[in-house]
Amino acid sequence: MKYALTNVNIITGLNTDNVLKHKVIIINNNKIISIQDHLEEKIKTIDLQGKYLMPGLINLHVHLPGSGMPNHRKKQTKEKVKKLMKFGITRRIIFNMCKNFAKTELLSGVTTIRTVGGLSNFDSRIANLVEDKKTIGPRMITSDMAISVPNGHMEGILAYSCCNPLDAIRYVKQINNGTVKYIKLMVTGGVTDALIEGEPGVLRMAPEIVKAASIEAHSLGLKVSAHTESTEGVRVALENGVDTIEHGAKLTPKEISLFQNNKASLVCTLSPAFPMVYLGYEQTHLTPIEKTNSRIVLDGIIECAKTCLENNIPVGLGTDTACLYTTHYNMWIELALFVKLVGVSNSFAIHTATLKNAQILGIDHITGSIEEGKSADFIVLDNNPLDNLKALEKPYMVGFRGKIFKKPRVKRYKQVDNILNNALNSILTK
Ligand SMILES: [Zn+2]
Repeated sequence: MKYALTNVNIITGLNTDNVLKHKVIIINNNKIISIQDHLEEKIKTIDLQGKYLMPGLINLHVHLPGSGMPNHRKKQTKEKVKKLMKFGITRRIIFNMCKNFAKTELLSGVTTIRTVGGLSNFDSRIANLVEDKKTIGPRMITSDMAISVPNGHMEGILAYSCCNPLDAIRYVKQINNGTVKYIKLMVTGGVTDALIEGEPGVLRMAPEIVKAASIEAHSLGLKVSAHTESTEGVRVALENGVDTIEHGAKLTPKEISLFQNNKASLVCTLSPAFPMVYLGYEQTHLTPIEKTNSRIVLDGIIECAKTCLENNIPVGLGTDTACLYTTHYNMWIELALFVKLVGVSNSFAIHTATLKNAQILGIDHITGSIEEGKSADFIVLDNNPLDNLKALEKPYMVGFRGKIFKKPRVKRYKQVDNILNNALNSILTK
């Protein structure tokens, strides 16, 4: 269907503070076909009354199985996940939950997600349902289940347990189902599975496993992302061929040149580390060790992002949904933290969460900016997000491949939002 959005102020997603004022956007067959000053033809028109339109957000780090609601007593264990995945009925319930979270991402303004660790092949199945228009959801670049090692990060929960390079090759082949585009490796430990202070980034995956998985993945045309929360982890991941470093850590000149030589990217995830560091015990129930490790990880993520930006290494943004207090509808917080903690401008944060993220995924010819020829993936906001990123919190309208969702509603968790907003205000006003 052909239609026009009129009287709209456009933020293109290109790295600029410029707003294209009072424009008309013509959309036809899911694409932006023209941006003009006046409407010159008689077609269906939606008057946006001076609102702000920008590209749909892209979330590079999503786990669909989990809401982000703090659920202190119910820590997910391998045994629990195994039980839930064993029976048809519980599998169906979890599958539908993941499908709904994908829909939440879209209706909150995220028109593309990359999943980096899920249950079974659920992510791919949901991605296919979206492509076949059998469900409402964003464009999905999937990894399905990740690969970890015995007692490694998320092993048995969102990741397979891999013992040696041959195992790694076997798992990569198994995960490669024609839909996935990434293989996710859990190279180091994480905050929640560290037992001693300073341990969150301890190297868990042997370099030979990282190498075997990367070679196999690349031979199948897949990219590799790696969970890494220490300098050693980043070095081992990059030395053995991964394409994106998730989270990151303090870099030495060695890792910087590995990033550059491999043309690798960093995916910065401030959203999960922020509440762990800035919220109190009553809200997080973290042990003192977990709290200390959270601070180490957050500092590492911030320093890594800064160093990468200084060295022209691509930095993208993802929220790491399903972590404590990291919901499927609050991506604007990631942008706000990127500005406050990494020290970029609002316009650069918007550019990063749209076009830069699309470039990292290799889909910037399809989406990521408001330009003629691109997919009509956009959000419409009541206020200018360049002035205040909170304008992104509740979009007035979401467009995905030209299909419009007006005043989209998502299920929000009031308690989570209140706690996060208070914590955010305390650092944003500092
Ligand atoms: Zn993650």
